Amino acid sequence: MSFIPQWIIEKKRDGLILAEDEIREFINGYTRGSIPDYQMAALAMAIYFQGMSPEEVSVLVDAMMRSGDIVDSSAITRPKADKHSTGGIGDKVSLILAPLAALNGMAVPRISGRGLGITGGTLDKLESIPGYRTDLEESAFLKVVDEVGCSIIGQTATLAPADKKLYGLRDVTGTVPSIPLITASIMCKKMAEGIDALVLDVKCGAGAFMKTPEQAAELARSMVRVGQAMGKKISALITDMEQPLGRCIGNATEVRESIDTLKGEGPEDLTRLTLELTAEMAELTGTGLGSREKTIAKMREDLSSGKALNVFRDMVAAQGGDTGVIDDPGTLPAASIEHPLPSPGDGWVSSVNANKIGRAVLMLGGGRSRAEDGVDHAVGITGLVQAGEQVAKGGPMLTLHANDRERLAKAIELLDGAVAISPHQEKPRKQILDRISSITEET
Ligand code: URA
Repeated sequence: MSFIPQWIIEKKRDGLILAEDEIREFINGYTRGSIPDYQMAALAMAIYFQGMSPEEVSVLVDAMMRSGDIVDSSAITRPKADKHSTGGIGDKVSLILAPLAALNGMAVPRISGRGLGITGGTLDKLESIPGYRTDLEESAFLKVVDEVGCSIIGQTATLAPADKKLYGLRDVTGTVPSIPLITASIMCKKMAEGIDALVLDVKCGAGAFMKTPEQAAELARSMVRVGQAMGKKISALITDMEQPLGRCIGNATEVRESIDTLKGEGPEDLTRLTLELTAEMAELTGTGLGSREKTIAKMREDLSSGKALNVFRDMVAAQGGDTGVIDDPGTLPAASIEHPLPSPGDGWVSSVNANKIGRAVLMLGGGRSRAEDGVDHAVGITGLVQAGEQVAKGGPMLTLHANDRERLAKAIELLDGAVAISPHQEKPRKQILDRISSITEET
């Protein structure tokens, strides 16, 4: 036998660089089942402690991408682009960005994930639209991308199966927070979409995976480096996730807020970030208007004119969803209990803790703590105040939507101190902290 898995584990444990064929054979063996979970877990832990060189990470991404099918979108002539967010509270950007990008000359073949932990997933949000199918076959998916300009579906069993298996294993072996492993997990799925360009929204703060801008920048550099090595146009924005995005958190509640934003009537923080990310995609694909300001101004117009909402409507219809919810969002799933939470004092909102808000929505049933759990599409939070706003004691601060009184009581407990009030109006936080567009040297 020429391939001995424990020798590879020992090599990485001792901090040595793995050869390309060693990484490929390990991933192939794990995907096929000839390498057991315990050896893969040991290698993941060795990678967690010893890290990987940029070359090793690129090979790992490629091996994981090739563990399954790669979408063949070569028949689509428009530039194919997507955005990936590392996940945040109230992050519904994809629902608005995909139709906007489609309207501006790009094709968006988007394969999204479900939420895990406190951050919600795009698929869970879309599935609150009755009938919306996230499980299209590849040919049907590409037909929607070609005809509408965008399609959002879920990860199929044949897309990067190595990641599906490895992510589940990392989740229970303490090996999720490793930059090489996160890079490989995210990039192998995005590269399997068959896109030309990718914009990364790497979030940092209380409601994100990466807590500091430094950690977020390190992850961003790692992913941008891999994308470049694979010949893609790629850039990353480092964005603030100390506070939730928008005023609604949940699933149906976020679809409602996305519809408002697609009409040009959404909260400004959500609108601005969506426009920046879509304009970044336009820049990478050469579909912009020459300057960021002009591109953004045109895209704002696409929102307020209702054109972007029409593309969203076409996508929902093409995927079997009930477009009636777009004209009457009141028909989206609604919870049986509405519970307003008043402000405990007078003053100005100085911060809204995204982690506490996310945990409260998880408690209501709007998120999942294990991959196999379901979510309650109807529950969540609406009308959440934002930093910089003035509040009066007893005035509205947020409204909880619940289907269970016990969960509601626990969610209220988790919200203790989530909104901080100060006697003065503080300077607003920066939303976009950095942009990483190319890696020219190893750091
Ligand atoms: N998202 C992924 O898809 N994989 C990770 O490892 C972390 C976040």
